[in-house]
Amino acid sequence: PPEREVLSYDRFGVAVRELAQSVADAGYVPDLVIAVARGGLPLGGALAYALGTKAVGTLNVEFYTGIDQRLPDPVVLPPLLDVEALQGVRALVADDVADTGETLALVGQLMALHCAEVRTAVLYAKPHSVVDPDFVWRRTDRWITFPWSDQEPVVAAG
Ligand code: 5GP
Repeated sequence: PPEREVLSYDRFGVAVRELAQSVADAGYVPDLVIAVARGGLPLGGALAYALGTKAVGTLNVEFYTGIDQRLPDPVVLPPLLDVEALQGVRALVADDVADTGETLALVGQLMALHCAEVRTAVLYAKPHSVVDPDFVWRRTDRWITFPWSDQEPVVAAG
């Protein structure tokens, strides 16, 4: 079997609609979508459109610095969320993948302190994740290549 799971932008478009459909089918109507930056930003923005949710925010968490290059723990980085804006809100947290699940566990705990309800949506979940997200598009135990991070940053020509 191939050692990588490769997601294309085309398939990402399909994934967003299918994930949004499963959120809607569950009867969950989020007031706010929180994207975990940076990996969850494309999904968070696209899900907000697919669900018709206008309020979006981000939480910046850093854990991986490369393939299997991990910090000891996920760290929340500035700019920080305004917790006043979370009061009484039904939130949907969007991320690219629950791998160890530690990032989503941290974000879920932080959000639950302030929100009325928190659910989580990911493109992929891995079997060993410490959290099982509420909405999962695909499950895999491989390293995933996402279309937004599979190339080096551009460099200026000339
Ligand atoms: P965690 O281990 O906390 O669940 O994952 C934290 C972050 O590491 C993910 O949101 C993602 O950005 C990155 N990550 C984890 N597994 C993979 C993977 O298989 N592929 C890629 N490209 N990033 C990953």
